[in-house]
Amino acid sequence: MKPFKYEKAKDLGTAASTLDSIPSASLLAGGTNIVDLMKEDVARPDILVDINGLEFSKIKKKGNTVSIGALATNKDTANHPLVRKHFPVLTQSILAGASAQIRNMATNGGNLNQRTRCMYFNDPSVTCNKRDPGSGCSAMEGLNRMHSIFGWSNRCVAVFPSDMAVGLAALDAVVNVANKDGESRAIPINDYHRLPGRDPSRDNTLKRGEIVTTIDIPINSWAKNSYYLKVRDRASYDFALVSVAAALDLGGGVIRGSRIAMGGVAPKPWRALIAEKELIGKKPSKELFERAAKMEMERARPLEHNEFKVKMGERAIVRALQKSGNA
Ligand SMILES: Cc1cc2nc3c(=O)[nH]c(=O)nc-3n(C[C@H](O)[C@H](O)[C@H](O)COP(=O)(O)OP(=O)(O)OC[C@H]3O[C@@H](n4cnc5c(N)ncnc54)[C@H](O)[C@@H]3O)c2cc1C
Ligand code: SF4
Repeated sequence: MKPFKYEKAKDLGTAASTLDSIPSASLLAGGTNIVDLMKEDVARPDILVDINGLEFSKIKKKGNTVSIGALATNKDTANHPLVRKHFPVLTQSILAGASAQIRNMATNGGNLNQRTRCMYFNDPSVTCNKRDPGSGCSAMEGLNRMHSIFGWSNRCVAVFPSDMAVGLAALDAVVNVANKDGESRAIPINDYHRLPGRDPSRDNTLKRGEIVTTIDIPINSWAKNSYYLKVRDRASYDFALVSVAAALDLGGGVIRGSRIAMGGVAPKPWRALIAEKELIGKKPSKELFERAAKMEMERARPLEHNEFKVKMGERAIVRALQKSGNA
């Protein structure tokens, strides 16, 4: 591991100021990802800015929104009464991730900003455009069973690993960020993570020196008709092969609105917009869900080793919708 300096942030302004002035600085929240990456020599920050102790750990109701602190732990978030009541799909998605021990340490801000689990990214002895821009993508011609079937580019085919972010994508969450001057921005969750395009080194749209402070989730009437389904090789400590967060707005016997977000299939939480659209105004049924899922997955571009994700994704969408809509 490369030697590094450690700084305990006094307030948001000083933490953001260090991030802004030292490009190789990194934040330390729960440390469950950044410390592993440093030990593997994948991340090599000159300075770690410890933001534990800043004020962003509260979960509270603000009007028709629940605000979740970036420093609230995944455990406290999943189990919070407001989250359990209004957003069961978020509770389910968080509890489907990692293990109890990791969720006790992991924070919401860290979860949103964790790096990919692509095995080539995590091995500094091989080429990787995300870790070392321009060096090449080892997964493109290598073992790409765990990789993307949507949204990838010829520079990078990695998936974004967070379960929580998929739950948030189905809830129209908004990520609030702030910089050293106290200026803040509200980024819709679907614009927070980015596709690799020509520059896979950046996973999200955070600007230099910006820190996630809170995540706002609008309370809506869909809560009771939602479900998170995660398909993985083993039941714990494993990332999604495919996951689906589904939420349905049901009324008058028809689907008035729908949200379907997928994990394990793309470099960011993938909104299944084609399937969502197909459902609107129709009576929930297995046949409808199957048709919508098929239409969505027809657009997939599988790689050499992950063709299986297409059928798996189709079935996972149907199952998650059935669980959401009691059909
Ligand atoms: C064995 C194992 C299994 C796992 N399985 C899963 C799984 O199945 N599903 C899943 O979703 N996750 C899984 N994880 C990942 C885990 O959820 C993340 O490691 C965790 O959420 C990261 O949170 P943290 O607070 O520890 O982040 P840290 O490690 O402290 O930070 C991670 C990154 O986020 C940045 N960061 C932290 N806070 C902020 C902020 N407020 N603003 C801007 N940037 C910030 C840091 O600079 C760093 O780059 C697993 C991890 C392990 C070790
Ligand atoms: S898929 Fe992305 S993260 Fe994995 S080796 Fe290729 S460039 Fe690196």
